[in-house]
Amino acid sequence: MPVPLLDISRQHQPILQELGSVFSRALETSRFIKGPELESLETEFADYCGTRHAIGCASGTDALTLSLIALDVKPGDFVITTPFTFFASAGSVVRAGGIPVFLDILPDSYNMDPDLLSGWLQEHCAVTDRGVVYRSTGTRVGAVMPVHLFGQMADMDRIMSICDEWGLPVVEDACQSVGARWSERRAGSFGAAGCFSFFPSKNLGALGDGGMVTTDDPDVAARLISLREHGGVGYIHAEVGFNSRLDALQAGFLRVKLARLDDWHEGRRRNASFYSRAFRDLKEVITPVIKKGAWSVYNQYTMRVRDRDRLLEHLRNSGIGCAVYYPLPLHLQQCFKCLGYGEGDFPASEAASREVISIPVFGELTEGELAEVAGAVRSFYEA
Ligand SMILES: *Cc1c(COP(=O)(O)O)cnc(C)c1O
Repeated sequence: MPVPLLDISRQHQPILQELGSVFSRALETSRFIKGPELESLETEFADYCGTRHAIGCASGTDALTLSLIALDVKPGDFVITTPFTFFASAGSVVRAGGIPVFLDILPDSYNMDPDLLSGWLQEHCAVTDRGVVYRSTGTRVGAVMPVHLFGQMADMDRIMSICDEWGLPVVEDACQSVGARWSERRAGSFGAAGCFSFFPSKNLGALGDGGMVTTDDPDVAARLISLREHGGVGYIHAEVGFNSRLDALQAGFLRVKLARLDDWHEGRRRNASFYSRAFRDLKEVITPVIKKGAWSVYNQYTMRVRDRDRLLEHLRNSGIGCAVYYPLPLHLQQCFKCLGYGEGDFPASEAASREVISIPVFGELTEGELAEVAGAVRSFYEA
C-alpha cells in the first residue's frame, strides 16, 4: 500500500463547504485585496500566537525579508543564522541587503546552539555607538535569526537573554513552527518579529502562497504595513518598499483552517509518538529529540539514520513517501561561495545533511498507513 509524504486533500475534505463559502463571499463582495477578511485573520493570528500585532504578506520569505528591513538591518550588516535550514532563511538576509553569518546547529534538535551564539559574539564583537560590530572589520551585526526547524522551537530563553544582553534584535524564522511552544509560549512571541509561511505544506497552509509577521512593537508593525505596500501610506512614500500582500481569499481560507490548527497538531503529535515507540529498539535510527521546554508541532518527522540513501531508496521502492530536508547545507551552496565558507566548517550541519530522512507524519494518516511506514523502515534494518 503506497503512503504519500503529505496528502492535503484529506485535510480539506471535511471543510470543503466552508472553503467554498469563502470563495463565494469573495466573489460577492469583490474585496480581493486587504479588507475585513485580512483584518480578521490578522487579529485571530496575533491572538493565537500571543502577540499584539500580526501583519499579513505574500510569503514566508517576504515575512523574513520585510522584518529584517523593519528592524533596521542595513545593507552590508551581518545577520546570524544557521546553515541547516530551508534556503529562504539565508536568502531573505541577502534580499534585505544583509550578509548571512552561519553558526553550527545543535546535533540533536537541529536548531541554533546558544553556546555558539554567545561564544561567537564574545570572541568577535563589541558594542559601540553604532550597535554591535564585528571588531576586525567594523561590520555591524543587524539581527539574529534562529530557525525553529521541523516544528520544534530553538531555546528561546537562552537566545533571548544573550541577544537582550547585547541589544540585538531577534527575528524568529517560525515558518515551520506555527503553534509550537517553548516554555508555554508560542513561536513568534519571543523575538522582535516572528515570521510565518502559509506555503501549502506548512502546518497552516493556504491554497497558494502567503506569509505573516507577528510583533508586539507598534512601530515595527506600522513599518511592516508600509513596507508591504511600496513603503508608503496614501501615495506618500517614506521609503521604497515591496508589493507583498496577503490576498483576502487566502486570508479567508486561512481563518477556516486556523480554527482547526490545534486539532491538526494533535494528529501529527500522535503519529510522531507512534513512530518514536515503533523505532525505539532500532539502534540504526535516532528518532526526533524534543528538548525540555519544547512542544513540537512536527511539521516534519525527521529521523537520523544509518545508510540514509539506501533507506530512502528502499522506502521509495515500497511506495512510502519520504524526503531529505535538507541535502546540502546553506554554507556549501554555490550562491553563497562568496561568503567564504567551506566543507568542514559546520560539522553538525554537514552530518545532518548526510543522515536525515523525513517520513509521512500528517494528521490524517490511517493506523494502517502508519503501520505500513513503520514496517517498511523496520524491514530495512532487520533484513
Ligand atoms: C517555508 C520556509 C520559508 C519560506 O516560506 P515561503 O512561504 O515558502 O516563502 C522560510 N524558512 C523556513 C525554515 C521555511 O521552512
